[in-house]
Amino acid sequence: GRASAQLAALSQVLRLERSRRTAIVFPLQKLERYLAPGTDTAPFRLFQPGLAALQRSEALFRSDHGHPIDYVSSAVRMDHAPPPALPEVCFIGRSNVGKSSLIRALFSLAPEVEVRVSKTPGHTKKMNFFKVGKYFTLVDMPGYGYRAPQDFVEMVEAYLQERHNLKRTFLLVDGVVGLQKTDHIAVEMLEEFGIPYVMVLTKIDRASRGLLLKNVLEIQEFVKESTQGCFPQLFLVSSVEFSGIHLLRCFVAHVTGNLPTVEAS
Ligand code: GDP
Repeated sequence: GRASAQLAALSQVLRLERSRRTAIVFPLQKLERYLAPGTDTAPFRLFQPGLAALQRSEALFRSDHGHPIDYVSSAVRMDHAPPPALPEVCFIGRSNVGKSSLIRALFSLAPEVEVRVSKTPGHTKKMNFFKVGKYFTLVDMPGYGYRAPQDFVEMVEAYLQERHNLKRTFLLVDGVVGLQKTDHIAVEMLEEFGIPYVMVLTKIDRASRGLLLKNVLEIQEFVKESTQGCFPQLFLVSSVEFSGIHLLRCFVAHVTGNLPTVEAS
């Protein structure tokens, strides 16, 4: 709603009382006190930037005359992708996982950015490239489903394998239902390619605290036991309430080399 849309900017979040502020900026930390004693919380705090770093990252996501944030182009084939001139991140996930909502939330301080959606069944699925000033590009990969056509699989695989400026892949997982079979297929692909990725749990406003804890702990265990390339800290987001959005902006800034020093808070 309108009230939460205002939380797109940190300055608004900072006006909230402390516990609500923590829930918005560090949603994973908010869960910590409900954990059983002895639970390993180290993966909860690997990336824990201070206010200055959060503010510097937010500035990257805020467009102005000297710092345009634009949709660049769409591509169905690698040779149609823009030149790999800047550090890049990409977002992948099942259809309906909340990917367009998340990208819209990340870019909410650049309202001129249009996050296009092509959901019509049978419609050509494309990779959409966004340019954030002279700092990095962000790619919205087509949502995958259990009946993904072969040319789609080939496009995504080619991108992930060939894109040398790709700094990190963000794999979106529905926070309400947790890891699904198709998510495991995506994980296997990323593991096989040996590229660094990170899991983002979406729609956390829709999960009860108990369910969210269960999904977080299960996925954390899975990441620890069964993956090599996945960053051990999960990122929790709600595109409706703006929780986790500021931290995710900061992580994007960090992995694209636009945040030389991440000071501890
Ligand atoms: P995409 O297919 O991955 O791009 O998914 P969308 O962003 O279109 O979202 C799919 C559905 O989930 C839509 O009905 C959204 O309104 C809803 N949705 C997405 N993100 C959130 C969220 O953070 N919270 C809630 N409650 N609903 C969300």
